[in-house]
Amino acid sequence: MAGYDCIKIPDNYEGYSLDMFCIPKHYENDVESILIPKGLITDRIERLARNICCDVGKGPLVGLCVLKGGYQFFGDLMDRIRTINASGENSVQMSVDFIRLKSYEDDHSSGEVKIIGSDDLSSLTGKYFIFKQDIVDTGATMKKLLNTLTKFKPASIKVASLLVKRTPRSTGYRPDYIGFEIPDKFVVGYALDYNEYFRDLNHICIISETGKKNLLF
Ligand code: 5GP
Repeated sequence: MAGYDCIKIPDNYEGYSLDMFCIPKHYENDVESILIPKGLITDRIERLARNICCDVGKGPLVGLCVLKGGYQFFGDLMDRIRTINASGENSVQMSVDFIRLKSYEDDHSSGEVKIIGSDDLSSLTGKYFIFKQDIVDTGATMKKLLNTLTKFKPASIKVASLLVKRTPRSTGYRPDYIGFEIPDKFVVGYALDYNEYFRDLNHICIISETGKKNLLF
């Protein structure tokens, strides 16, 4: 598999102003700007799906979704892979599974990652699988998860993450498939939450200081 590049959003990019797109009224004061509109996310996912299908060959492929933040990306990516499967010369045999992790409270890492549901993963043994992750920040969560999953002896593990943050706190971990590399800001929307808020926001937005204050537990 060739290493793939991704779309890099520069540090000085301020995003789109809120009145250029539609966002729910109840979030108007809680986000600063729109970093990645939903349409661009959709188009980028289409290409990630194509890259994955080319690399996986016939599979079998297990798509493992990291809940909750990964559900939107997971659903959209699996949907695109299904479309390619139905219409292409070759097809990939696919199944899905779900796990949950807990690592963040407010906008700071707690330093601990709890994997919930990993003892059900023995069915993954011998299969090629791809996880879908919403965002890689330091990479600590992903490293820990990969350690755990290796115990199930999958034929191959590849990680697809919609977002990777450019941060000095990075462990150096890079997923195999990346949608966008983004500045070191706290983002919400497209299923990415802040204390469970913003999962109902379509676009990926930068949270405002007001939003952080208003939406504390
Ligand atoms: P890491 O272990 O890579 O530092 O953190 C990964 C996890 O932290 C993600 O799965 C996500 O739950 C959370 N996270 C990190 N940065 C952000 C962010 O900008 N926005 C949101 N909503 N969650 C984030």
